Amino acid sequence: MPLSELIDLRKSLHRQPEVAFEEHQTAERILEFFQALNPDHIITQLGGTGLAFIFKGEKPGKRLLFRCELDALPIEDLKKSPYQSQILGKGHLCGHDGHMTIICGLGEKLAANRPESGEVILLFQPAEETGDGAKAILADPRFKQISPDFAFALHNLPGYPMHQIVMRKGTFAAGSTGMTISLTGKTSHSAHPEAGINPAKALAELIQELPRLAKQSKGFALLTLIHAELGSLAFGTSAGKGSLSMTLRAFDQQDLDGLIEKVKEKALAVANSESLKVDFGFVEQFAVSVNDPTLYNIVEKVAQNLGLSLTEKQEPFRWSEDFGLFSQACPAFLFGLGAGEDCPQLHEGTYDFPDELIETGVRIFEGIVRKVNG
Ligand SMILES: [Zn+2]
Ligand SMILES: [Zn+2]
Repeated sequence: MPLSELIDLRKSLHRQPEVAFEEHQTAERILEFFQALNPDHIITQLGGTGLAFIFKGEKPGKRLLFRCELDALPIEDLKKSPYQSQILGKGHLCGHDGHMTIICGLGEKLAANRPESGEVILLFQPAEETGDGAKAILADPRFKQISPDFAFALHNLPGYPMHQIVMRKGTFAAGSTGMTISLTGKTSHSAHPEAGINPAKALAELIQELPRLAKQSKGFALLTLIHAELGSLAFGTSAGKGSLSMTLRAFDQQDLDGLIEKVKEKALAVANSESLKVDFGFVEQFAVSVNDPTLYNIVEKVAQNLGLSLTEKQEPFRWSEDFGLFSQACPAFLFGLGAGEDCPQLHEGTYDFPDELIETGVRIFEGIVRKVNG
């Protein structure tokens, strides 16, 4: 398929964005594309809407996995273009349409010229944005049959020069979790607040104290309050319920786990002193993405051979990627691909994956396959 047809594919994916675990049409399109390429093995409905296509070499060797994401965001696509999203309130604003197209381009290369040894798995995972997709893939028993020796992924990165490779050894992106603390007391007439248990004081104390706990971590850790709620708008009633929601993040999994424990301890202590019941809820949990040093050397060589500019990121990114879960399962490598310095950021309404990155992405991934498996 000429490059122009891959670009058309990217635009058609952009036009029909589907959000986490609803990526049925997207998966159907991708399946159609790969059926024409005749891979050695196809797995559908992996971890929900996910797909895996396997290309085998003649000789035994390493099993490499390349991951991309099927999902778009529940955010309006604001950029006027002939391929603007046709689905109200949804858009491919993280560039996953581009990532899918790169893996499709890699599939064509492998179909035309299979690796000499080992196997290559091309994985299209659902629900990256909610942090649930990688978890669902890894929990699917069929994934065990194809569990890789090494896993690779890239993310397009606005704010960096076009085609620049952004790398790091060790942590590439932070781990994070959404956490909600629910406090339950007892309502009473607002004329007699002493007859009830109002969580207002506990809530105020937690709002003050919790962000400070992150500063006690050895490495970088951050607690950001995102939502608070107390009682309801009933002026005759003293509040009997409250909740506080926050996002916790850290560059090291132990620091993140340690921070969660500290928040729980503090909330329990405050709740107990006010005779409140406390419950904890967790959503959007992302593991720390850790890069394997041996794979760093492979990607570095490939980038150099292709004459691409390479930059070493001094600090990990503060955002999270659910590819982190793959990095906990096998040696893995996640890198950034610069998408230009003067463009909107990821998740902004006008973000649009630059098509010139498709070929670069395919060349890097194919370079990795040829270097490891021939
Ligand atoms: Zn995103
Ligand atoms: Zn993304």
